[in-house]
Amino acid sequence: MKKLLYFTFFAALLACGNQEQKTVEPTVEIQDFEKFAAEFIDDMWAMNPISASYQGVHDYDDKMPIPNEARKQFKMKFAKDWLAKLNAFDYEKLSEADKIDFHLIEDDLKNTSFYTNDFKMGEWNPASYNIGGAFFQVINYQKHSLDKRLEDINAKLDYVDAYYAQAKENIKTPTEVHTNLAIQQLEGSKSIFRKTLLDSLNASAKDEEFKKAFESKIEKTIATIDDYKSFLQTEYLDKKNDSTTFRSFRIGKELYGKKFAAEIQSAYSAYEIFEAAVVEKSDLHDKMFGLSDMLWEKYFGEQEKPDRRFDQIQMVIDEVAKTHVHRDSFVTSIRQQIPELVAFVNENDLITLDPKKPLVVRETPEYMRGFAGASISAPGPYDADAETYYNVTPLDHYTDEEAESYLREYNNFTLQILNIHEAIPGHYTQLVYSNQSPSLIKSLLGNGAMIEGWAVYTERMMLEAGYGGDNLEMGLMYYKWNLRTVCNTILDYGIQVMDYTEKDAMQLLMDEAFQEKSEAEGKWRRARLSQVQLCSYFTGYYEIMQLRTELEEKMGESFDLKTFHEEFLSYGSAPVKYIRKLMLKKLSSDSKAAA
Ligand code: ZN
Ligand code: ZN
Repeated sequence: MKKLLYFTFFAALLACGNQEQKTVEPTVEIQDFEKFAAEFIDDMWAMNPISASYQGVHDYDDKMPIPNEARKQFKMKFAKDWLAKLNAFDYEKLSEADKIDFHLIEDDLKNTSFYTNDFKMGEWNPASYNIGGAFFQVINYQKHSLDKRLEDINAKLDYVDAYYAQAKENIKTPTEVHTNLAIQQLEGSKSIFRKTLLDSLNASAKDEEFKKAFESKIEKTIATIDDYKSFLQTEYLDKKNDSTTFRSFRIGKELYGKKFAAEIQSAYSAYEIFEAAVVEKSDLHDKMFGLSDMLWEKYFGEQEKPDRRFDQIQMVIDEVAKTHVHRDSFVTSIRQQIPELVAFVNENDLITLDPKKPLVVRETPEYMRGFAGASISAPGPYDADAETYYNVTPLDHYTDEEAESYLREYNNFTLQILNIHEAIPGHYTQLVYSNQSPSLIKSLLGNGAMIEGWAVYTERMMLEAGYGGDNLEMGLMYYKWNLRTVCNTILDYGIQVMDYTEKDAMQLLMDEAFQEKSEAEGKWRRARLSQVQLCSYFTGYYEIMQLRTELEEKMGESFDLKTFHEEFLSYGSAPVKYIRKLMLKKLSSDSKAAA
């Protein structure tokens, strides 16, 4: 551990009583950056009990902050105070790894002002007031005794009334899509209270008095949630024909640019990434056209090819997409494929997988449904021994037609790429490495673009390593899948900044990205619900590919793919631009040592 000069915070606190501002001098007290980071994290959890329990810190499970003005001020003060403490470090004297942490903390604290004063999601997104997951995190924490968990929940339930009273006060001209999402998710949340929590209560040895009081709080909570739902219905949805009821879901160029910088933490601007995606799209079209030519005869024999390139590609895709699993075996077939991916990664020496961390494939819990069809939920760094779930949403709620459309999108080839992305060696593998990273800051303030970029990168890397053999269908479906990532970026920027209509979006997704209707409709919905996040896939992938190429060129013969992967992941979920800086620095010091 490095010892660093530290401007004492406590001295500054004591000086607070005096009105005059003294010049800050470095003191003789020596502390290290890790200690500062640990204190910062502790303070962050104390302020954010709900995030804390999601991340596996369960010291504040009995608390639930009310999202009022006082809390806003408190958050701003928190950011200001900790930025001052951070800036007391001499950046140049930090180790390279600590420099990344420095940036992550700095970016995070600076974003507080953006989210609190500019973005203000609490005003326009009624779905941000969904507390079901927060309670689920508490009851699901097996390291606390059932009695302890129930006591925490019993105390936490006392905040629900004030919480929703404040939520109703905060909402000002919401968007219609977020209002609808809120209604849907809140309905799903109720089962956590009505079922999960009451089942746990009944299984406990708590006395009758406790049980009675608890049950009546649960009833009250459900009534409060229903009241909030009907508030959204009567105040907003019932008045949807009035043009002043809802605001546009488009956040516009300025907010978008700021949110992109805050969230993606790329070396590029939002517009530069948009432009790169447009170039990539046309390159992928060329490749797909070539493959559809080679596959034409197999599926269409002597039949004449259509005039339009897009039509030819679409026709071949439509044939290939017919190879898919039955709707009832969707979850099962995903479960069966995981060990095959593990075997391929091991046989080809692509990256070390930890055999002690099992991946559990399960049906997505009700309260989490509503977004993607498959996702990973992994234990945080505080709970590294807990199970990692691969959530797959079964197709039971689909009509036959919807299921068929969905299954053609997730046909036998695409389903394998999905599993690479979500599980092995994509998200699941990355998260295992991330939790081994020595920096808690990097695990907690992780960069979404690096995380998604890695998953997208592994799809390509697996195919380059020979996954799928020389199967042309696999190649075609991979390009189509990759095109989706590219078009996500174009779509997101287009919708939020360039006023793309639903028709523009459908044209891009169905005609130029060859998506099935259900997928395209889902994406149109998602792209109105979130902003910037859809760019993370392509941006991270783009920057990882650039980094790999750069290192291959610099290292020549000595470049080793497995080493590259393991070193890249060893820095934790940090923005690619910061990882690049460290890897290049390490390379230059390694070659100096060799010389
Ligand atoms: Zn079919
Ligand atoms: Zn992903």
